[in-house]
Amino acid sequence: MTRNGSASRSLTLDAIVLGAGAAGLFYAAQAGAGGLRTLVLDHSAKPAEKVRISGGGRCNFTNIHTTAQNFISGNPHFAKSALARYTPWDFVALMERHGLSWHEKTLGQLFCDQKSSAVIQLLLDEVAAGAGDVRLSAPIADIGHADGRFTVRYEGGAATAPRLVVATGGLSIPKIGATGLAYDIARRFGHTVIKPEPALVPFTFEGAEKAAFAGLSGVSAPVRARAGEGVFDEALLFTHRGLSGPAMLQVSSYWHEGEPVEIDLFAGADGSAQLRALKAGHPAKGLGTALTQVFPRRLAEYIAESGLAPAFPRLADASHAELDAAAERLSRWSVTPSGTEGWRTAEVTRGGVDTAGLSSKTLESRHVPGLHFIGECVDVTGWLGGYNFQWAWASAHAAAMAEP
Ligand SMILES: Cc1cc2nc3c(=O)[nH]c(=O)nc-3n(C[C@H](O)[C@H](O)[C@H](O)COP(=O)(O)OP(=O)(O)OC[C@H]3O[C@@H](n4cnc5c(N)ncnc54)[C@H](O)[C@@H]3O)c2cc1C
Repeated sequence: MTRNGSASRSLTLDAIVLGAGAAGLFYAAQAGAGGLRTLVLDHSAKPAEKVRISGGGRCNFTNIHTTAQNFISGNPHFAKSALARYTPWDFVALMERHGLSWHEKTLGQLFCDQKSSAVIQLLLDEVAAGAGDVRLSAPIADIGHADGRFTVRYEGGAATAPRLVVATGGLSIPKIGATGLAYDIARRFGHTVIKPEPALVPFTFEGAEKAAFAGLSGVSAPVRARAGEGVFDEALLFTHRGLSGPAMLQVSSYWHEGEPVEIDLFAGADGSAQLRALKAGHPAKGLGTALTQVFPRRLAEYIAESGLAPAFPRLADASHAELDAAAERLSRWSVTPSGTEGWRTAEVTRGGVDTAGLSSKTLESRHVPGLHFIGECVDVTGWLGGYNFQWAWASAHAAAMAEP
């Protein structure tokens, strides 16, 4: 690996890759194994920073339940071809060849037993095995395209190749190097870009709700959450700013400004039956106290005190019809976020390079032969749980398998 490419000569290669993240490095590894000479350029000083910070430092590198249904895209079928040709088990086999072990945490999410940095080293070793070169701290100055060849001038040098693979990711977490370069390149070469928006991101609230949720900060409960077409059974977490936890991150990818998020506090279970059972078992208790059997104490108190459900000072005095109505309210608790925490904390970007302009088989531009877009910059956004890395691996593999 070379920092700040020492030479200023122009290199002649088979493929220039922009972005030394998950997708860019994996493309160079796969293309290199196929005999292509590659150069990976990145403006950051360190490669694959998002791999490093992923999965709480243990990289949730794939999900064994991956199908195209776990992705949001203008074309729900687009990801199928790439995902079918590079599966989660292919990456697991690669990890094992490198002596890395893994475990399933929950819901098919595979985490590395070693630190995330071991996955970055795997990627760099694979690139090196294919004789690929990675240049860091190498901001891109200019991209030219003439006579079927791309010429990239970057700090420290220039390179030319018949293939340009854009893998500079989305806009989330600008602090660690995210930029909109992929979208700029896409537009310049005649592609449509679906509006990039923060996804897998906590919700924020204003006013009374903000104050109430801040009071519950740290409380977590399993729920069924719904926004638009997204429905997820996962944990809800109250925070100082609003609502987070896997359930909220997941539905945030389906949420649009001004829309409500619906929360079933019984997580799909029969709330009426639960409240009737509480009445039978604790007739002298009020709802807030009795609900501590079902929910964390602070949440149970909030439900009764905020009027989310009637307080019922003695459950014995509540009719079954009243309990059914309370259960209905708790299973359809509707909140309207004022916004999200935005790019600062969003794990991914929804939207991106429109799949209509790309081949689903090779991720190659339909307008410009030799131009590929892979990874998160494409309008394919995975759920929380290892799906986004699986898309990075699979889309990179598909592009690397393209015929010259
Ligand atoms: C906190 C966090 C945790 C995550 N955890 C997981 C997880 O556990 N599992 C999972 O599947 N997904 C996870 N994700 C999502 C996952 O990290 C991304 O979807 C994935 O990294 C996308 O890969 P990529 O190669 O397309 O883009 P990136 O990994 O973002 O790589 C893009 C690269 O391009 C470079 N670049 C950007 N702009 C320029 C420019 N103008 N010039 C030169 N270089 C540029 C960047 O420096 C970067 O190295 C997480 C994301 C975050 C933010």
